[in-house]
Amino acid sequence: MIPPGSTIGIFGGGQLGRMTALAAAAMGYHTHVYCPASDSPAFHVSSAYTQAEYTDEKALSAFAKAVDVVTFEFENVPAGAIEFLARSVPVRPRGEILHISQNRLREKSFASAHGVKTAPFVEVKDLKSDVDVIGMPCILKTAELGYDGKGQIFIEDKIPDIEISFSSILESFVPFQTEVSSIVARSPDGTMMGFPTVENVHEKGILRTTYAPARVDKRIALEAERLTRHLAEKLDLVGLLTVEYFVTQTGELLFNEMAPRPHNSGHWSLDGCVTSQFEQLIRAICGLPLGSTRLHTPTVMENLLGDECLSSERYLDDPNIKLHLYAKEAIKQGRKMGHLNRLESFVVKPVTT
Ligand code: AMP
Repeated sequence: MIPPGSTIGIFGGGQLGRMTALAAAAMGYHTHVYCPASDSPAFHVSSAYTQAEYTDEKALSAFAKAVDVVTFEFENVPAGAIEFLARSVPVRPRGEILHISQNRLREKSFASAHGVKTAPFVEVKDLKSDVDVIGMPCILKTAELGYDGKGQIFIEDKIPDIEISFSSILESFVPFQTEVSSIVARSPDGTMMGFPTVENVHEKGILRTTYAPARVDKRIALEAERLTRHLAEKLDLVGLLTVEYFVTQTGELLFNEMAPRPHNSGHWSLDGCVTSQFEQLIRAICGLPLGSTRLHTPTVMENLLGDECLSSERYLDDPNIKLHLYAKEAIKQGRKMGHLNRLESFVVKPVTT
């Protein structure tokens, strides 16, 4: 058990790191954020921070000495950095899980090897013959470093004339009914606790809205949670695992991708659930009992993208909305600047005397 008063090291300084640091502070922990970027939103709310490259062994070594456990808020951390830290401090989840989830080919192969279905996919060797195998429409994606729909090409009926210089995956286009995700926390002793399955609407590959709970048949929601638990167990995870699924027209679940960390589709839990995903991550990696994941208020989470954050003040008047801003310095189109949680069944009763 890592008791309150200890220091949690967080790799990555974005909004996920920021909200993890806030949850850790509320539970009596110190935090130390490590990130190469100067305008890291998590720096503002942590007890200490290191601004250094992930390959800087001197900085990594000082960081390892300053913390009692390390977790991360994004998976694209160089494997070498994790191996280096793991020699002197517990890293939760462990580096091998990071390695699998950093690469779409590896994560999809892992899921299907453990009986969780995916859309048909191949590693791209020769695009023309790969498209012949998969069929059109299909989607070409970089195997690594793609997020929020970046690095993806939709192939409808014509093979694009492009040079492929990155390791890539070609997968069938899924004419899905909807998309859902499920988050499961797992403790060092193997105890697991799943959050209610939620439904996600993306626009141009970026998450726009999450509905908690998902507006799908209860059997589909429970099956998503069951599959996520199964994968968390097979990964021997300590921390959080988020898995995104497509729900096909026939109600079948297809694994799309996974992230061994808090996830944008879990932000609703800050206001609609007894324990937020960030608090649950702290509980899991510190070996504390996991918290209740009871959804107490149906919630709709909306991301504030780019300059939408400039008009966010108008939400402050609405008693059913909780606003979360990330204090990012630069506003860029499509950048996640904040989110709001709309509490759906929260009715303010007039005060009567
Ligand atoms: P990804 O980065 O793989 O999560 O893709 C971002 C979004 O693009 C997904 O959440 C879907 O809305 C859409 N998408 C990705 N892959 C597929 C697919 N094979 N079929 C249909 N839509 C997809």
